Parts: sequence; structure tokens; C-alpha cells
Amino acid sequence: MSHHKLSLEYALEQDKNDPLKAYRNQFHIPKSKHGDTWIYMTGNSLGLQPKQTKSYLNQELEDWQNLGVEGHFEAKNPWLDYHKLLTDSMAKIVGAKPIEVIVMNTLTANLHFLMVSFYKPTKTRYKILIESDAFPSDKYAVESQLRHHGHNDKEGLVLWGTKKNTNLLDYDTLETILKNQGHEIALIMVGGVNYYTGQFLDLKRITELGHKYGCKVGFDCAHGAGNVALNLHDSGADFAVWCTYKYLNSGPGSLGGCFIHERHAYRKDLNRFTGWWSHNKTTRFKMRDDFDQIPGAEGWQLSNPPILSMASIKASLDMFNDAGIDNLFIKSKKLTGYFEFLLKQLGEETIRIITPNNPNERGCQLSIQVKNANKTLHNKLTKAGIISDWREPDVIRCAPVPFYNTFEDVFRLVEKLKFILNK
Ligand SMILES: *Cc1c(COP(=O)(O)O)cnc(C)c1O
Repeated sequence: MSHHKLSLEYALEQDKNDPLKAYRNQFHIPKSKHGDTWIYMTGNSLGLQPKQTKSYLNQELEDWQNLGVEGHFEAKNPWLDYHKLLTDSMAKIVGAKPIEVIVMNTLTANLHFLMVSFYKPTKTRYKILIESDAFPSDKYAVESQLRHHGHNDKEGLVLWGTKKNTNLLDYDTLETILKNQGHEIALIMVGGVNYYTGQFLDLKRITELGHKYGCKVGFDCAHGAGNVALNLHDSGADFAVWCTYKYLNSGPGSLGGCFIHERHAYRKDLNRFTGWWSHNKTTRFKMRDDFDQIPGAEGWQLSNPPILSMASIKASLDMFNDAGIDNLFIKSKKLTGYFEFLLKQLGEETIRIITPNNPNERGCQLSIQVKNANKTLHNKLTKAGIISDWREPDVIRCAPVPFYNTFEDVFRLVEKLKFILNK
């Protein structure tokens, strides 16, 4: 470890040489009441606003103002097919084919809609496997699916737990569960990147294991989309869902994304909930024809979508296209590696990083466990202008996002943490 790397000069040098450095200025970085720019480390919770989002929204407001209903066909970006403008970029970000991806609804709603298709319990195979510390909404969703199908939500839930003294999931444990109970498990539904530890799971390995035991496999990629190379198509997963307001910077409560593997694209035997937007576009407005399902993920849509939300997603995806998702991943690995390096200087007796060390098993987030810490530490950090995220009992989650965070941010964060801990 070089002394040089511990200096502010080193961090500033890294920022100067960062090929993506111009992007930070294309985001609004919030400031404190006193006018100091925050060190914003919660892009994993709500991504920052791109400056161009406003003009994308204004375009749609103006088209609505000037064209009314005609905007469906006459708007600069006709609303009828607006969702198509998002598909290719979104497919690239999650490593899927365009036919496998649709932007619609919100994450938990999509999870339910896809379980309508991919959770088909029978008398003997009806259980759902999730990770033991799943995001609460995911747990509630799968429990309610169990009840919906007349099963007991305690007995029907199989938990993939971590081994003693570690917060990380391992595949041997999963395989053991599947060996014993695989024949009873209808669906495996886990978070692709764990929201708490930041662990990026091997989606392909889990899918292959699950399929080997006859289970359907789906992933919640809320913390993965825009953060890690998900390669959803190659993973072979049956489905995946994610939101766009975390790493995809599309604004609070914005629409979610869905992936349904190509091998299901033309299936008519899959149960699904439908609406007029799942129906063949050429006859949709005749309103009289029998249901004629659109092939691929588009065939899971229900309603005509909210264009304003899609416009803010487009503003963000255009930036991803411009910067190149692979370039963002390269910077992400450097930035988080630097963050890890600085944190380690604080000493193992003070802090422990529970996120995997291997850069291929994580995204940009590091989850930091601080000895004897409680929420007052988090409050002190906030007071010092560091916006991080506290999870009970003792974990601080920080996500230096390659699009807008800097090496300087990371350096100053660790300096402030050091100062607070020494007090
Ligand atoms: C953020 C997040 C959600 C949020 O669900 P919404 O339906 O968008 O409110 C769900 N699951 C996971 C794993 C998340 O990280």
C-alpha cells in the first residue's frame, strides 16, 4: 500500500484522469442548507436527477398541451409506441434481447404479475425458495402468493440461509437445500444483488441448479440493474424484475423493468393477467377481436403506460447509451476498490466490510459494519454532509456511483468517518 494513495492529491489525480468525469456535471448534486455539496452515497436507494430530465418531461408536457389526444400519434415521440424507445437501451443494460424486456408497472407489482405466469404450484411442488434476509417487500410478495394459492406461508417458504459467522450466501448450502427439498420447490426467487450485503450472486449458477431440480427461477434485480453486468439472457433465468429509480436515475417511484426469457416469448400456455396493452397492436383499437397476445415481454403489459415516467427513464437511458454501460462498470470497480482500500486502513478492529472482497461478486455498494456503532454514527455522518444509508443493527451502506461520484467523494467520506470514530 503506497502512502501516496492515502492522499487527497491521489484522489484528485484519479478524478482528473477519469474518462467519465464530465458526467458528474450532468447531474444535480444536492447541497446542504449551508450550501455545501453533499457526498451523496445513496444512489442505491434513489439515484440523482440528470439535468436533462427536465427537458424530456417538458417535451411531453408541451406535446400534451399542444396536441391533446393526437399526441398518441403526432407527438415528437408518439406515445402509442413510447415504450419501444426504452427497450433496446434497457436490454443492453441488463444483458438481454429486446424481445425479453419491457418497462411497465412497478417492481413489486411486476413480481406478482410474473409469479402469475411462473409460480404454478401443484399439490406436491408448491414451495418458494428465497434468501433468508430478502428485502421485506419480496418476502411479503411471495408469502402472499403462497396464501393466494391456498398454502401456509410459513411452511411453504424455504429460506436460503447464510453459514455461521458470515453474512454471505453460498452455493453449497443452496444445493443441499435443493437436494433435500428441490422436488417440493416450484419457484426460486432471490435478489440478484443483495440489498443488505451488496453480494452479487451468480445468476447463471443458481438458474442451472434450480432448473436441474425442476424449479422455475426468477430474480429481483433492483440493486443490480445499472450497477452490475447481469447478463440476464445468458443466465437462463425464467424472469427478472427491477426498478429504475435506484441506479437507473429515473426519479422516485418511476416505472420498473421486466425480463422474460426468450424461450417463453411465443408460449400461449403460460397463464397470465392481461389487458388491452398485451393485445396485438394492429387490432388493439378495434376493441372487438378476441385476445391476440403480443409475443415476448410486451405481451405482459396491461395498461397504456405513464408517458411522463417513461420520459424520465428515457432521459436517463440516453445517458447510459452515451457513456457506455461497460465503461461505467470499469470505473465502478476502480472507485469501489479505492473505497475498500481506504476503509481497510481504519483497521479490522474498527470496521468490517461485509460485502464480498471479490470485485466480480459485488457492484459499487460496500456495506460497512462498525464496531459498537449505533444510529448516532449515521446521524453524525449525515451532519457532516455524507448521505449514506443505515440498516439495523449496525450496518452503513455506501454506494459510490460511477456516473456521478468521484474519488474525492470517497476520500473525503473516509476522512470524515475516521475523524468521527476517533472522537
Ligand atoms: C428497492 C427494492 C424494492 C422496491 O419495490 P417497489 O415495488 O419499487 O417499491 C423491492 N425489492 C428489492 C430487492 C429492492 O431493492
